[in-house]
Parts: sequence; structure tokens; C-alpha cells
Amino acid sequence: MVVQKFGGTSVADPDAVRRLIEIARAARARDGQGPVLVVSALSGVTDALLAIAAEAGASHTDAALAQTARLRERHRAMARALAADGALPPLCAHIDAHFDELDAVVRALGVLREVSPRTLDVMAAMGELLSSRIVAAALVHAGLPGEWVDARRALVTNDDHTRAAPLMRETTAALRATVTPLVEAGGVPVLGGFVGATADGHTTTLGRGGSDYSGAVVGAGVGAHEIQIWTDVDGMLSADPRIIPRPRLVPRLSYAEAAELAYFGAKVLHPSTIHPAVECNIPVRILNSRRPEGAGTLITAEPNPDGDELTAMAAKRDLTVVDITSSRMLMAYGFLRRVFEVFERFRTSVDVVTTSEVSVSVTVDDRRQLESIVEALSEFAAVAVEGDMALLCAVGDRLRAEPEIAARVVRVLEEVPLRMISQAASRRNITVILRQADLPHAMHRLHEEFFT
Ligand code: ASP
Ligand code: MG
Repeated sequence: MVVQKFGGTSVADPDAVRRLIEIARAARARDGQGPVLVVSALSGVTDALLAIAAEAGASHTDAALAQTARLRERHRAMARALAADGALPPLCAHIDAHFDELDAVVRALGVLREVSPRTLDVMAAMGELLSSRIVAAALVHAGLPGEWVDARRALVTNDDHTRAAPLMRETTAALRATVTPLVEAGGVPVLGGFVGATADGHTTTLGRGGSDYSGAVVGAGVGAHEIQIWTDVDGMLSADPRIIPRPRLVPRLSYAEAAELAYFGAKVLHPSTIHPAVECNIPVRILNSRRPEGAGTLITAEPNPDGDELTAMAAKRDLTVVDITSSRMLMAYGFLRRVFEVFERFRTSVDVVTTSEVSVSVTVDDRRQLESIVEALSEFAAVAVEGDMALLCAVGDRLRAEPEIAARVVRVLEEVPLRMISQAASRRNITVILRQADLPHAMHRLHEEFFT
């Protein structure tokens, strides 16, 4: 059985939901049971709910109510387009109950003028609670045994509102009590992603984009053989399509590669979100709901046995390099500690670090505290700052065992002045820092060499 998670664009309108239904039908025909569906809010709805909360908290009650009215109508229209006539009145009653509650919260906030994280979660959760109900009804109308499951009864989280963490032991027990029996009885359970509740029943959300995480948690909890993330791209690409017009689809990569790519700015689903799948060794597949016949990108614990020399590239722009030079660094201990203490004091994280005998270079992407940082470092070292830099990172498990690949990466970039070069202990990536203006050329060179 598979768990299929559908993102906001894959449930955006009635046609999108009809595509979802055929995707679920095909999975059911193939596996003989399931699937379990985890859905995001209709696209844009979470943003809208958070905007409503902000308006309401600022006492712009009328503006907020006008927005809730529009959202109510959008959900009702979806229900009319997708549910069977007989199922429509109870579905619309649920929709109205949610929006009546939302309107009451908006009015209350206009008086309280303060939106607590707990209240924010109650509001934000409505997007997924509603989309999942609509999808369940749409499945039934299309002849599939859709069964709505209240995610608040299936995902048990801590009380860190707006970025709650699922408690895996409790959640697994809850999923086995709510979802598993429905699958065993031949149903197609549908849950809203992003949403959970504390053990004592307060609604929580897992943080923006949290539906992927829900998908992985549900997959791990019910013991799925695969978790599918259905989205609006074909899968992971070998390079940023804004720079490389025709990047290649990456057919398969390891979790470790995906983690490095995400860290270095690739638009891949964030590996921390599939952590529960990693723990249980469940493969995760990224697929395009507009082109379901595509193979997508498979992410597995093991490296791809047929992997290419490099798996993909990632880039990050708008970095600043800080060079810290001091002759006191020579054979001294404690120097690096002093350097990094400064970054810690100003709560600025450092991405890439290289050192030489008397200097350390680091990159930062958050410039807000830069002036203070430079001032503090200048007390014990000479400091130079250079902006408009970029990071280009080539990732591949084969870099570990085949040193000539890293050598070729550097050689291919021979005309590009490289400011820093780094290969960390994982040896799964080679990262260079260069001028932002050189980034497109450098990416093209690497792509030509390794991906075409
Ligand atoms: N709807 C939520 C968001 O937009 C969760 C998700 O879609 O993953 O952040
Ligand atoms: Mg989303």
C-alpha cells in the first residue's frame, strides 16, 4: 500500500482533484488496496488564512470577514463541483461550520487584538481539514471508498504551536487505530496534512509546507511500502531551470544527497520532512500530478547503484564572504573559537568555511548583523567583506570513491575565479564560492560536462 501526498496545486480546483482521483484509482488497482491520501489545503488557502489572522489581529475585522467570505465560497464551489448531490448538504454544513467558527474567531480577535500561536493553529488548520473532507467526498462520488479521517485524531504532536513535532510513538498508535482499520476494510482514508493535535486535544500545525512531513509520518506509521509526493514538477532536476533551460530529471538519489542539495538551496523537498521515512527505510517518490505517467524522482536510503558521476547541482545566491585574517592564528589554539563565537553572539549562521594558515573565510546569507560582526571581529583580526557572491554545489555519492570527479569539477571551472572551494567530510559534495555574475556560466559549464 502506498501513501500519496498531494500538494496545494494538486488539489487547487475541481480538475486537479479529478486528476488526483485517477491517480489514486490507478494505485488501488495496482496494489489491491489503499491508497492512503494526505492532502494540502487548496492552493493559496493557508496564505489566505494567515493573512486573515493578521488582519483580524489588527482589528481590520471587515476586511478579514470579506476574505473569509471569499474562501467560504471557494470551498463551497469545490464541493458543488465534486460531491454527489446527496452528499452535498452534509459537506456544505461542515464547510459552513468551519467558516462560522472562523468568523467568530475573527470577531474575537478584533477585540483581543492579539493572535496567539494556539489561535493561529486553529485558523491555519482549517485549510487542510476542509480540503480533505472535499477530496473524500469527491472520491466517493467517483466510485472509490473515500473515508475522511480527522488528522487531529491521527497525528499526536507536542504543543510547540505553529511548528509542532509529531510524537512518533503516540502517532503510530493513533494511526493504527484510525487509518489502518479503514485500509483493512477496503477503504481509501483521506487526511489533511500539516495538521495534528496535542495529546489533550489542542489543534496544532507542523509549520509551513508541513504536509510533506505529514505524508512521511503517515507512511511510516501505517508501514507503507512507498510514500509518493505528488506535486507540480516532474521531480528533482539536475540544475536550476532558471539558469539551465533544459535540466535533466534526476531519476533516483539517496537521502544523503537530497539532504545536501536541499541544504545548498535546491528546490527538493526538504529532507527533514521525510525523516520518518528515512528511519523506516521507506522509499519516497516525487511525482507530477499533471503528468502522472512520468517516472518521477525516487529517494532511497541507499545510493543509486546506477548513479551518474554527479547527481545534481544546487546554487545559492546573495551570499557574502567574510575573510578573517590574523597572524595570531599561526599555531595558536582558540582562534577559531573566538571567530565563531562572534557569529554565535550575533545569531548569524555560516554556510561554508575554509581556512588557511592565517585566515578563515566564511559565507553568510543573512547580512542583518554584518556590521556588528565585522566590528567585533576587527578587535582581533583584519576583516574583509565581499558581497554579491554565490555558492555552486555539485552533489553525488560517487564523489566519495572517485576522486577524479572532484578534480574534473574544478578543471571544468578553470576560467572562473573561484573564491573558496570546499569538500566536507561527507565527501558527497564539492562546493565552490564564486562571484554571482559568474554563476550562470559556471553552471552551464558543469552541466555540459556532467549532464549532457
Ligand atoms: N498548507 C500548508 C502550507 O501551505 C502545508 C502544506 O501545504 O504543506 O504551508
Ligand atoms: Mg504547499
